[in-house]
Amino acid sequence: MKAVVFEDVGLPGIHDRAVPSFGAGEVLVKVAATGICGTDRAILLGEFPARRGVVLGHEAVGAVTAVGAGTRSVVPGDRVVINPTYHCDRCRPCRRGMPAHCGAKAGREIGVDRDGTMAEFAVVPERFVHRLPASVSYRRGALVEPLACVLNNLAAARLRWDDQVLVLGAGPIGALCALVLAGRGARVTLAERDQGRIALARLLLPGTVRVSAAEEAAGAGVPDAVIDTTGSLPGDVLGAVARGGTVVVMGEKEAGVATLPLRALVTRGIRLVGAGPYRPADFELAVDLAQDLPLEGLVTHVLPLERYAEALAMLAVAPAGPGRSGAGRSGAGRSDAATGYSAMKVLLTTDEGPAL
Ligand SMILES: [Zn+2]
Ligand SMILES: [Zn+2]
Repeated sequence: MKAVVFEDVGLPGIHDRAVPSFGAGEVLVKVAATGICGTDRAILLGEFPARRGVVLGHEAVGAVTAVGAGTRSVVPGDRVVINPTYHCDRCRPCRRGMPAHCGAKAGREIGVDRDGTMAEFAVVPERFVHRLPASVSYRRGALVEPLACVLNNLAAARLRWDDQVLVLGAGPIGALCALVLAGRGARVTLAERDQGRIALARLLLPGTVRVSAAEEAAGAGVPDAVIDTTGSLPGDVLGAVARGGTVVVMGEKEAGVATLPLRALVTRGIRLVGAGPYRPADFELAVDLAQDLPLEGLVTHVLPLERYAEALAMLAVAPAGPGRSGAGRSGAGRSDAATGYSAMKVLLTTDEGPAL
């Protein structure tokens, strides 16, 4: 089978791999589509440690083609979405109800140190595949995993119904935050620096989401909660959020460091929260909510696996030097600083995969 492999920093490659074997309690999934995520991008940029030779990808949907002994919850032919946040259920964080922060993740992170889903097939423990409701297409289902992440972080914000929410960053995660909040009738502003992403967010999100250039976000009023999806928490956020407000940090980078005015944190009673990935219940909720949320509206490109380099270039992974670009010039992806990104969510699909 074909697989997109992390060879080294800046160097993905397509390899021929054997279809992985599976054992008791595992299922073999024929991958239909994998979303490209900020983590994949960070791995390739050398900002997130990953094992050389690992198959990339973790936001995947597909069909069960075979099941190992003892499997009860799925059968061949079932359309499923993969929950890639494996956990052991035995360590202290797991036993204390925080499986997303499992202490035994080494060797268990799909697309990081265990083979992922940018391939024709993937093997997954039965308990980490969920059947997709019939009304959820693969194109929509591919957004379930990032949606689960968003749900957990929005829950951590403990929002009130009358909150003004400011979401920093209009990438796929910021856009998903805005989509969920708008769906719940919240007053939400999405602030972004990149002109291309501003234009995309205006085009793809409901009109009730206010999309503004980062420097103009203050005009939207004082937010009660700030969700930072940029990974570069600006120090002035603690002064900009309402007294007693909440700041949730998402999208952090390996070397991310913020300088914060501690007096503002204390005297203004700000809650600064890191929530990380989701619990199994968030994932199940995401599968459920996908029936109602038009997630596929955020998918701007679907490319076959072989065109992985073009897909990654759209997300500014490949160096834009002479001979390496092309995607920008054809207008299909990240072009230059003036126009910015022209992609939101990009999916990779296999040759024989069903039309999405
Ligand atoms: Zn991801
Ligand atoms: Zn654990």
